Amino acid sequence: MQEIADDVFCVEGTAVNWALLRDGAALTLIDAGWSKDTARVEASIRELGCHPRDVQAILLTHAHIDHMGAINHFHQRYGTPVFMSAADAEHARSGDLEQASPVDIVRRCLRPRGLRWTARILGAGALTPITIGHAQPYPQTGPLDLPGTPVPVACSGHTSGHSAFHLPSSGVLITGDALVTGHGLSPIAGPQLLPPFFAHRPDEAEAALSALADIDAEWILPGHGAPWHGTPTAAVELARRNASVTDRI
Ligand SMILES: [Zn+2]
Repeated sequence: MQEIADDVFCVEGTAVNWALLRDGAALTLIDAGWSKDTARVEASIRELGCHPRDVQAILLTHAHIDHMGAINHFHQRYGTPVFMSAADAEHARSGDLEQASPVDIVRRCLRPRGLRWTARILGAGALTPITIGHAQPYPQTGPLDLPGTPVPVACSGHTSGHSAFHLPSSGVLITGDALVTGHGLSPIAGPQLLPPFFAHRPDEAEAALSALADIDAEWILPGHGAPWHGTPTAAVELARRNASVTDRI
């Protein structure tokens, strides 16, 4: 767990990150790992001296199973609500997720780097389908009335309703999978797009970088890879340059 700004924590699960925003004893959880990461999500909350019941809400950058794993557990056990864009809430409720097909994944994974990544995600619950019947759209537009006061930023492409979250008072941009800094299938580290086959609409995912580029922040907290110190403008520039590598994965 890394505190990248006051009361903003990045936690690494199984090749995926989640974030905790703290305000006194209250928390917002952003993304929720794989299903097998559930105990680690709880442990990260207790590590802050909090109880899972202190999570006021879970926010989801996008409805992919590597970010949804602990959500149903929190809802059943603690009544935690979960909010996301209207488009992704619909997919989460139906279970009809805009994810890479198994054929796409298998094709890329018959290489040493791919085999290692596939083994990790299979162990983390990659074959367990998830639906979230209680998924709701954001309760308001603009800054959310939750610990950390996150502001959703629409950046569709990876999914139809992908959101980033800007924390203006902390100088942090939580980018989910719209901009990452590493991935088990990628040979490079640093700001980059995920390989195109992970995106519902790769062209839109590329264009969505423009929605992030001008945001005022000094830290990037991605869905995959290490937190990155630098502005979104610089991160987007690098991601565009690195597309010559990531496009070919
Ligand atoms: Zn992801």
